[in-house]
Amino acid sequence: MTKIVIVGAGTAGLISAAYFTNTFQNASVELYYNGKNRSIGVGEGTADGFSNFLTNVLNIPASEFLKHVESSVKLGINFKDWLPNSEYYHGFEVTDKTFDMNNYSSLIEILSDNYKGGKNFNDATNTIPDIPFDDYRIAYHIDTKSFSDYLFKLLETKVKFVQDIITDVNVENNNIKSIKGRKSGIITADLFVDCSGLNKRLIKHLDAKWEDLSDTFIINSAIPYQFNHNYDEIPSYTLSQATQDGWIWQIPFAERYGTGYLYSDKFTMEHDAKYRFCDWLDNKHDEDPTLNNTIKWDAGYYKESWVGNCLSIGLSSGFIEPMEATNISMILSQLEAFYEVNYTLSGISYNRDSYNKIVNDAQELMTEVISLHYCTNRTDSDFWRYMTNNKTDWVLSFEEKLKEEYYMGVEGMYAEDLDDLLQIAMGLNMINKDAIIKCITLRNDGKHLMEQSKEHSNYFTKCKEYNWVSHKHVLKTLREVS
Ligand SMILES: Cc1cc2nc3c(=O)[nH]c(=O)nc-3n(C[C@H](O)[C@H](O)[C@H](O)COP(=O)(O)OP(=O)(O)OC[C@H]3O[C@@H](n4cnc5c(N)ncnc54)[C@H](O)[C@@H]3O)c2cc1C
Repeated sequence: MTKIVIVGAGTAGLISAAYFTNTFQNASVELYYNGKNRSIGVGEGTADGFSNFLTNVLNIPASEFLKHVESSVKLGINFKDWLPNSEYYHGFEVTDKTFDMNNYSSLIEILSDNYKGGKNFNDATNTIPDIPFDDYRIAYHIDTKSFSDYLFKLLETKVKFVQDIITDVNVENNNIKSIKGRKSGIITADLFVDCSGLNKRLIKHLDAKWEDLSDTFIINSAIPYQFNHNYDEIPSYTLSQATQDGWIWQIPFAERYGTGYLYSDKFTMEHDAKYRFCDWLDNKHDEDPTLNNTIKWDAGYYKESWVGNCLSIGLSSGFIEPMEATNISMILSQLEAFYEVNYTLSGISYNRDSYNKIVNDAQELMTEVISLHYCTNRTDSDFWRYMTNNKTDWVLSFEEKLKEEYYMGVEGMYAEDLDDLLQIAMGLNMINKDAIIKCITLRNDGKHLMEQSKEHSNYFTKCKEYNWVSHKHVLKTLREVS
């Protein structure tokens, strides 16, 4: 039996525990956590890969999940004011699990004058398709507290949960020999999984290369605020609204909203951020909040998030910023990558190197996606001037490419990831239709590309034909049934 010790019971720790108990039959799992501070309490948006986690790891139908965990359907993200007085949508696919997108997906849609990015399939923002959730790939907003309670219950017979604070880490040759709990004393394991969040309680004692991105991604502070509400309608989108010095997130649930103000302490003082956020909450929601929690981090990630016998998952392995809510997806990708390269839990170095390469590629793609959002060319404040003057090399070359050509992705890129990039580029007016037409005319396979892209166009048509129903009504009915 291989002994796995997880430190941390936030979303990363609990998802890891679910994953390890489900995937490795020969493993025993112990999880240590600080009972006074169970999770960071933010991280409420997911991407559509979450459906696979529900089906393949938790073995529960999506409809069951929606009934028992405070959650709502997320059809995408509404980006507001990123360009002056404008908005665009990054929509997620709502397709049955057998549907395969292709890399030319968006071509016809982009060339048509009616293209509305991710909002192409439905005009209302408070409706969802009336489809069997269990058969479709769908993303959700999830309440972290309610999700955590649900996972604790689901795992109580499979995982040994211990409330204890880890105080010491005993390292030998870049391997963890043991850790020490305040109450438990010395704890040994074959594999230590660091899910201790921004504390990085285990991995920080090991020699692992840190990719510092704090000069590029300067947002490093968040003021979260949640409040109850009972509006007539529930949006089916996250709102991401740009401000003069960062952006605000707003995540809707059946009976509450999760919101937060994001800024860089390079340009904004905490009390100014609080003042601006209060103003927004008052104007938009008639809220008069007390804001007493500011979360701080430095953007970056470990290039080796699996070192020796320590695997770091979630915030402990790195964090850039909440843009596009990619972190729960990253947790799932990390665990899938671990399984992909490692059948016996032996931790041989070949497996570690392969794992670190897969995870680094995913982190790099994530940094590209996040950096693209700031390609607004805005110069109306110190923050926006900085972002415009400090575009990444990748953004600069991507911007140049889109002026001249169409982008069809790189070898091995998922069609969905490509579509994400193109939707954002469309939203930021970076795509040049004349250049696309010229490019297609010049290519031998231009006709073929257009035919391939018809499939995606048919998908939009199919989505329009769904029966679109009130989001609020569906959530209410689901809960009443339980
Ligand atoms: C402002 C903000 C917004 C975000 N929004 C999103 C989003 O919309 N979507 C998304 O996917 N992600 C989002 N994220 C990221 C998301 O919050 C995390 O990826 C996710 O919650 C996982 O966190 P975690 O489990 O790694 O860490 P945490 O939730 O911080 O959990 C850490 C755990 O470690 C334990 N611990 C720490 N030190 C010790 C110790 N010494 N001994 C014992 N236990 C210890 C704590 O008790 C806790 O249980 C956001 C992050 C931030 C900062």
